[in-house]
Order: sequence, then structure tokens, then C-alpha cells
Amino acid sequence: MAIQRFRALEEVLSRTPVQVELPKATVSEFYGENVFNKETMKKWLSDEAYKSVLAAMEQGIKIDRSIADDVASSMKAWAMSKGVSHYTHWFQPLTGTTAEKHDAFAQNIEDGKALERFDGDQLVQQEPDASSFPNGGIRSTFEARGYTAWDPTSPAFIIEQTLCIPTIFVSYTGEALDYKTPLLKALHAIDKAAVDVCQYFDKNVTKVTATLGWEQEYFLIDSAFYNARPDIAFTGRALFGHSGAKGQQLEDHYFGSIPERVLAYIRELEIECYRLGIPVKTRHNEVAPNQFECAPVFEEANLAVDHNSLLMDIMEKVARRHNFRVLLHEKPFAGINGSGKHNNWSMSTNTGKNLLGPGKTPKTNLMFLTFFINTIKAVHDNADLMRAVIASAGNEHRLGANEAPPAIVSIFIGTQLTKVMEDIEKKVKSGKMTPEEKTELKLNIGKIPEILLDNTDRNRTSPFAFTGNKFEFRAVGSSANCAAAMTVVNTIMADQLVKFKHEVDAKIKKGVEKDEAIFQVLRDYISGTKNILFEGNGYGEEWVKEAKKRGLSNIKSTPEALKIFTRKEVIKLFKQNNIMTEREQHARYEIQLETYMKKIQIESRMIGEIAMGSIIPSAVKYQTMLIENVRGLQEIAGFAPALKGEYANAKTKKVVLAGADEMENQQLPLERRASNGGLQSLAAPQIETINKISNYIASIQSNVYKMIDARKKANNLEDMQDKASAYCDHVKPYFDEIRYHADKLEFVVDDELWALPKYREMLFTR
Ligand code: ADP
Ligand code: MG
Repeated sequence: MAIQRFRALEEVLSRTPVQVELPKATVSEFYGENVFNKETMKKWLSDEAYKSVLAAMEQGIKIDRSIADDVASSMKAWAMSKGVSHYTHWFQPLTGTTAEKHDAFAQNIEDGKALERFDGDQLVQQEPDASSFPNGGIRSTFEARGYTAWDPTSPAFIIEQTLCIPTIFVSYTGEALDYKTPLLKALHAIDKAAVDVCQYFDKNVTKVTATLGWEQEYFLIDSAFYNARPDIAFTGRALFGHSGAKGQQLEDHYFGSIPERVLAYIRELEIECYRLGIPVKTRHNEVAPNQFECAPVFEEANLAVDHNSLLMDIMEKVARRHNFRVLLHEKPFAGINGSGKHNNWSMSTNTGKNLLGPGKTPKTNLMFLTFFINTIKAVHDNADLMRAVIASAGNEHRLGANEAPPAIVSIFIGTQLTKVMEDIEKKVKSGKMTPEEKTELKLNIGKIPEILLDNTDRNRTSPFAFTGNKFEFRAVGSSANCAAAMTVVNTIMADQLVKFKHEVDAKIKKGVEKDEAIFQVLRDYISGTKNILFEGNGYGEEWVKEAKKRGLSNIKSTPEALKIFTRKEVIKLFKQNNIMTEREQHARYEIQLETYMKKIQIESRMIGEIAMGSIIPSAVKYQTMLIENVRGLQEIAGFAPALKGEYANAKTKKVVLAGADEMENQQLPLERRASNGGLQSLAAPQIETINKISNYIASIQSNVYKMIDARKKANNLEDMQDKASAYCDHVKPYFDEIRYHADKLEFVVDDELWALPKYREMLFTR
């Protein structure tokens, strides 16, 4: 009912910003207060326990059972001192959200009394009744349940009255059922592989940590609108909606001043983040109206992943207090920009060196070049896997659709570094280089830091771009768990570094001097990976053609992209690097296909429901009003003098009123349906609209029924790949068709009769 829309509007207009105050005078006074971080641990743990946790965090050394008891009891004491009554193992199942099941510290003891208990067993391992988490066939529900295991590398934290313990989630047989388990393995792999390569340059490097700085984009809409839009509430995106007169064309939202109510929300969000030690730093409006971004300072990748998952949860909670809803969907509103989550990635050493940042000496610059070129090689050789890992129902609206970044995986390195690559390719010889040649090469490499300083060219359309001291994986979806992308990036890099070391060592063994061997291998990589480097406009049609010529993949659909996970070389990659077994890998693929299928299914059902139950009825109401009007005009025609003016020239034509049994006539162009004179011609525009409405209704209705048929056929398919593909290829195409006609109706139907809040209302926060 249209009344819902007006109530929502009224509610929104009456809103005032929620007052937010800092809990203490300065941020530093409460930063990290709800985290069991190193500083807190030092205060609360025994020396022995502290050292043991630190060793687990830094070297992955297992924590002793008796020490675990010690840690648990201190954690409990700390949490209770902060009013905490419950604890939970916090994990990231493959549903894409976080999961928790709260248990009270207090336990019954005899005589109706209770005591707060939390011991090592409870800290280290739990068996959540998690039979309904997706497992891709690994763990059938009647089998032993999955369990969660403490991940000491990510500190425990408090949310409201609950102590949250970051954990991994695995099946009874030890197979990963979550995002974190393979990530931790990939981080271990990159550590080892990168340290080995660093040894060529610096013997002091004993640990390499992958770093991640994410940039989270999101939309906010008022909760009253959210509640009045079942499509947004159930699918996270507007399935209908005529574009507003004003969208993002004036580009006045980007970096513009943040509306007061939104600012209050962001301030509170930041306070919550600070309490949890999430180092959020930047905030600004994004390109589209009501779109914003939040980004922290980068951290060690595992912690950064947890912080991003945590942030997505807190955003939702804080938003409700401000009468907003957060939309993390990749494309909530057709016609304006969607949202991504740039994953800024690099590696840093225990000696404080950023491996993708150029150094001060030729030697450290060669180290930089080594990691830089190996990254290009890794992405080049695994481009399809990079495409697969960002595939989802939501991201499909960005990748390869009308939006950036394209589905073609390419790398941007900038013109300056391209020149350096060309130079190396030219100068490095297969045979022995002369001392002069070597000196010249080193001299050029020594100039890299300067080059990068004024390397200001920034390409915004590349899915994977080098931005001075890190690579930025930009094609990741805004709602994604970064762990998936980070698992792939670190795995392919680890794999590549192992190969690189192998090749260099082989040359050294043959008597080639070390630096020369490194240069030779790098030169070969440069020659072999040129086709993936692209500096131009990634959105253009030109690039699609050019990429095809270069032999790069352009995989548009999600089911097709997910299929990559079943390729032999992909399974081998994960297996060889000890990241995932074939079964784990296959389970993940099945889950993602199923998630995709279900999402499209829900959208399809919702489209049918809204089209038939809301849009068509609104249109019929308006059409009835018009018919009344025409009837009235005809009635008074006998009394009125013949009319002159705009419609008088239609005098000789015959009127055909649109009736249900006269469908054919509705299809006639206006001139042939026009009035036979006088006042009747005055009804011509109304009659035109009456006809149009009938046409739109007919198209919507027939497409809804065809879509339902396509769904039935898809549902009958057994194989999940076939099913997901059927949803993609045979169900989804109806969405645009139905929406097109529904949006036309929104344009013609009386605004007062329209039930769904419109773009212009939802997208401009007052
Ligand atoms: P932008 O890309 O928008 O110009 P910045 O260059 O400041 O912004 O960085 C964006 C993100 O990249 C931030 O989250 C920042 O912490 C992160 N970042 C910077 N250096 C690194 C690094 N060495 N490793 C991972 N992330 C990094
Ligand atoms: Mg960026």
C-alpha cells in the first residue's frame, strides 16, 4: 500500500541526528580497551603464560594445556572486570558472515548456587551445534559435528557483555569449514617462501608477514525506507526503481561534506572500532549518493581479515541505533556506482622492510624488484583463479557488467615501472654480463625510489594495481570476506616464490653468479608476462577486444568463474602448498555455487512477488482512474462545443478504448486509435497512457510467468553446476526485462499510488 511509503517518508523527515560523544577525553584513552591485546595480556597473564601466547602468535608454537587453563582464567578475570557475563567462540563460516553462540560463564554448582567458570578446554575447543552451516558435503548432519579451535594469533575481544574468542571452524575429520583455516595456512606458506627468497638479500630476515589494508565501501539508507522495500530488505539490493532525475552525474557527493546524521553514525562506528582496536583512519563520501567508505591503517593479514569481518558486524549494529541500514551489497542501486572492497596487499619482514616498497640501496631495490616481478608472474599464471575468487552473485553486477572493474584480470604498474621492466629485459644477457653492463643496470635500479616518488599516474580502472608500495586488488566485492582473496593472493605468491628460488638456485648451481642468476630469471618473467600489463581504460570496449587478442580470459558469469576451482592445476596448487585438500577445495566450490543459485532464486521470487503484488496493482489503480476520467470526458462531450487545438487534427480518427478483450487494438499506434472528434480527442493522451499501462502490465506478467517456468526447470536439475548455470543463463535474464517495464510504470503511474519508496527518496539523506 502506498501509505507505507508515505509513512516512511514522514518518519524520515522527522529524524534528527543522534548525539554521539567520545567516551573519554581522547581516543588514545580508550583505544583497544575491549581487546585482550599484548599490553593487556602482559598485565593479566603470568610471565610464563604471556611468553607462551606470544610464541604462539609469532612462531605458531602450540600452547600447553596447563598454560591454556592459565590463559583462560586470566581472560575470564579481565572480561568480568568489564562486566562480561558470557563468552563465545567467534568464527567465520562459509556463509560469509560471522557466527557466535554465547555461553554463560556462570555454571550451576550444588545447592542451587552458581560459579563463573572458564577453563582451558573451553578456551581451546568448542563444538557448536553447527549442523546447518554450509559444508559442501564434507560433514553430513548425522556425522560427528564440526568444532571450533582457538586461533591465538588474533586477540580475543569484548562486544557488549560477551567475550569473543577468534577461532577456526573445522570438521571432526579436521577439514576446513571456514574462511580462516586456509588463510592461516596460506600466510604460513608465504612466510616460509618469502623468507627463503629474502635470504638472497638479507640474512637477518627470519619472518615475513603478509599485510592487508582493506577499504570498505557501503551504502546507507534510512531504516524506514529499508522496511518499506522488501527487495532491499531480503536481497540487499533494489530489484526495481526508476533512476532519479539526479543521480551521481554532478559528482557532487564524492568527498563532499558528510550529512549530519551520517556523520553521527560514522563517529559512533569509529568509537566502536577504536574500542576494539580496529585502526580505522579515513572516512569519506564515495562517488554515488549515500555511498561511503571506511578504511583502516593496514595490519597483519589475519588480523585485518578479522577486523574487516568484525567491522561489517558492527556497522550493522551501530547503523540501527541511527535509524540507518547498511547495504554491503556490490550493487544495491542499478544506474549508480556499486561498492567494492579494495584489498591493499604487501609483505613485510621482521627487519621492518616492506617487500613491495623500493629500498635505499641497489641491493634492497633488487629485493623489491624480485618481489614485484614475482607478484606479476604469480598473477599472470593464476589470473583465472584470481577471477574465480572474487565471483559472487553480487559482484557479478560489477565485473563484466556495466561497471568497473572489468572481468578481465590485468595488472597496472604505471609507465615508469614499465620502463624499468623494459630496461631490464633489454640489458640482461643470457650469457655473462660485462662489469660495465652490470654497473649500468644497478645504477638504473638505484633510481627506482626517485622514479616512484613522482610516479603519480593512478589508474582507477585496473582490477589489480601497483600503488607505490603495495598491490591493490580492487575487484573484491564489498560484501566479501577478504580471507578468500587473501588466501589466493598469498598462495599463488608463495607458490611462485618457491618456483623462483628453484630456478635461481639451479642457475647458481651451474656457476652463474647470484645477482646475475636473479636478473636472468626476472628477465624471463618480464618477457613472459607482458600480456597482462595494461595501462589504459579498463572499462572500454577497446580493452575487451585488445584483451582477447592478448589471449586473456574474460569470464563474465559467476558459475563459469567458479568452475575454475575444479581445474586440475588449481587443485594441485592448493594441495601442493598445503592450503586445502581436494575435498576441502571441492566443498568450497559447491557451497559457492549453491549460495549463488539461492541468491538468484530469492531475487527471482522477490521480483515475482513485488511485480504481481505491488507494481501491477498500483498500475491498475491508476489505469482505473484514467478510465473513469475518459468516461467522464465522453459523458460531457455532448454538452461541450467542438474543441480546437492540439488534438483537433485527430478528428477523423476512430477511438478504441483499451478493454481486456481488445488486446490487439492496444498495440496500435496512437494515431490509429485517436478520437473521432470534439471532446473525445481531449481524452487521447489519457487513452495513450491507458494503453501503455496495459502493455507494460502484459509484458511484466508474461515475463514473470516465463521466469517461474525457467525456475521450475532449473530446480529439477541435479548437478549444482548445471543448476547455478541455469539460474544464471535462463532465470536471471528475465530480471532486467521485468524491471524495464516496471520502471516504466513507475514513471507514468500517479506518484500517490506508488507503494515502493523511490530512488530520489532513498538516495538523498536529509
Ligand atoms: P589510496 O589507495 O586510496 O590512495 P592509501 O595509499 O593511503 O590510499 O592506502 C590505502 C590503503 O592501503 C590503506 O588501508 C593503507 O593502510 C593500505 N596500505 C598502505 N601500505 C600498505 C602495505 N604495505 N600493505 C598493505 N596495505 C597497505
Ligand atoms: Mg585505494
